[in-house]
Amino acid sequence: MNIPGTISVMTGLSTGKRLVVMVGTHGNETCGPLMLRERFSEIQIQRGEVIFIEGNPRAIEENVRYIDENLNRMFRAVDSYSAKERESYEFKRAQELKPLLSSCDALLDIHSSGTKDTVPFVICEQNSFEIVKEFPFEIVSYGFDQIEPGGTDTYVNENGGNGICIECGYHYDPKAKDRSWESLKDFLIINGAIDGELNTPRDQMVVNSNYLYKTKVNFRLHKYFADFEEIREGDFIGTDGNEKIHAPKDGLIIFARNREDSGEEAFIVGDVE
Ligand SMILES: [Zn+2]
Repeated sequence: MNIPGTISVMTGLSTGKRLVVMVGTHGNETCGPLMLRERFSEIQIQRGEVIFIEGNPRAIEENVRYIDENLNRMFRAVDSYSAKERESYEFKRAQELKPLLSSCDALLDIHSSGTKDTVPFVICEQNSFEIVKEFPFEIVSYGFDQIEPGGTDTYVNENGGNGICIECGYHYDPKAKDRSWESLKDFLIINGAIDGELNTPRDQMVVNSNYLYKTKVNFRLHKYFADFEEIREGDFIGTDGNEKIHAPKDGLIIFARNREDSGEEAFIVGDVE
């Protein structure tokens, strides 16, 4: 299987799992591609097969999040997309990637953020909690498979693998790059691809992300919300057209942003467990 955008396929001498490490699912998230470029020569796969691949090669080349559509929402069933969406570069790219993702045992999808004070966190479902418990992150959030279907990690989960996405922090923060490298090493060790010592497990706050607000018209935030900022039921979050939108419940707010169209993902609310 030689898919465009493949950086390298490394095979160990003994059998083992089939793993996928993806960078640049969003083309402007430079943390993953830079980390791989710098650390690649240090990786020696001993068991199984590891495919390192660029998620969205055209967007990486142009240093944009995406060309036509968010690649990380393009993995739903084909008939759930409009004719226009199916014409997009990212829809076609998703179809190219699907055979790889459906046949892997686990995926590590490396993301970063354009916001300087962003909070790093892991997105995975409960089936992967054992894998991520030594990752250098203080927050693990699950529930995205339900509220935001169509992601790479969801698609892997649906096909019986372990889909893991890491939000490493600000694109250009060296700490984000280190975090992505440490997570990659842990991912390879715990899945048996390399030998080595795992990071020390740390206290990770588990957040059940179970509420997604989608825009009706267009959405303007009332104020800036940091990821995982605490909100109370009834707090004024923003306006959608002329309507005031309030927090539906107490919890932590994630990915809150202004959105200009209808049907867009404007913010998520999660509960601490
Ligand atoms: Zn991303």
